[in-house]
Amino acid sequence: MAWRVPSFELQSQYLTLKGEIDSAIARVLASGWFVLGPELEAFESAFAEWLGMEHAVGVGNGADALALALRAVGVMPGDKVVTAANTCVPTVTAICQAGAVPVLVDCLPGNLSMDMAQAAAAIKDGARAVVPVHLYGHPCDMDALQTACDGSECAIVEDCAQAHGATFRGRPCGTFGAAAAFSFYPTKNLGAYGDGGAVVTRDPVLAQRVHTLRFYGDPGNYQHEEIGVNSRLDPLQAAILSVKLPHLNAWTARRRVIARRYDAAFRDLPVRLLEQTAHAESCHHLYPIRTDKRDTLQAHLATLGIQSQIHYPSPIHLLPAYRHLGHAPGDFPVAEEASRMLLSLPIYPELSDESQDEVIATVCAFFRA
Ligand SMILES: *Cc1c(COP(=O)(O)O)cnc(C)c1O
Repeated sequence: MAWRVPSFELQSQYLTLKGEIDSAIARVLASGWFVLGPELEAFESAFAEWLGMEHAVGVGNGADALALALRAVGVMPGDKVVTAANTCVPTVTAICQAGAVPVLVDCLPGNLSMDMAQAAAAIKDGARAVVPVHLYGHPCDMDALQTACDGSECAIVEDCAQAHGATFRGRPCGTFGAAAAFSFYPTKNLGAYGDGGAVVTRDPVLAQRVHTLRFYGDPGNYQHEEIGVNSRLDPLQAAILSVKLPHLNAWTARRRVIARRYDAAFRDLPVRLLEQTAHAESCHHLYPIRTDKRDTLQAHLATLGIQSQIHYPSPIHLLPAYRHLGHAPGDFPVAEEASRMLLSLPIYPELSDESQDEVIATVCAFFRA
């Protein structure tokens, strides 16, 4: 089905940059360099510089970025790693991939970011790492998390898969922890045309460890000291991302304008909007609202050709794959209630004012009927 207003739309961005992207792809094909190499290194430097970090290491996807970052900071099989119950599944997949045991905590009702009081208790209980997820692009309270980790052995590894360009106290998400993981999945705020991810860090030793891990554990001389994986950011994707990166700040600014227009339009409706974290600025990867009429609203939008999505229909602890964590319904009530009420409305930089006005008018009419 062709939506009149889709949740996201990747074609216009490609068409806008078509000349540059096509020639970047042609350049890689002509170079004959298809794994690692100069295109990847160029993007890694540009991305690190954009973020204000020393190192970026391109890997196969965001989940691998998180798993390898956790291993690089010293998470060992059986270690506890704290994260939020309301996240996109790969956060937890990655913790398991690193051999660690996910310790879930609930989220705050205002903006659904990690409940730092619960996280602090779990960190005190001997966690080796904590993965704050800047979900929907809304930064977690990094002051509270830093305080919770001070004096402990617990490393912060940020999940920035939805947080390109988000800031806390004016500082970009991805610059707070020992390391951070980014995804370049096509629909993310900086998206490749396939899978992609990166680990960023200030620590050269940690960066080197990720280089080794992404290359079968080979430090460069076939003297493998640990078992790694094969996970590299494809040079074709790196070349495409290098074309897109200079536009990212403008795209983020446009997302913020769209989010503010929604905020203003929905202020008096019986819907719950996400509150901003104090001192934080979201990059609005998604625009979720909460309503107890979620399913009828979604169906109504669909009849008028407006696509909406649910991020996410189940918190982690109620998914069959994570039953072994031993949780029951009621363990994380805020996350559970949110999963029944959340609906993400269309948001992407190329969304026109006219299309957004259609979404706004339809949502307003639904609640006023
Ligand atoms: C997309 C996403 C990931 C994983 O990224 P992939 O590149 O798809 O592996 C991890 N965490 C969050 C919060 C995400 O949204």
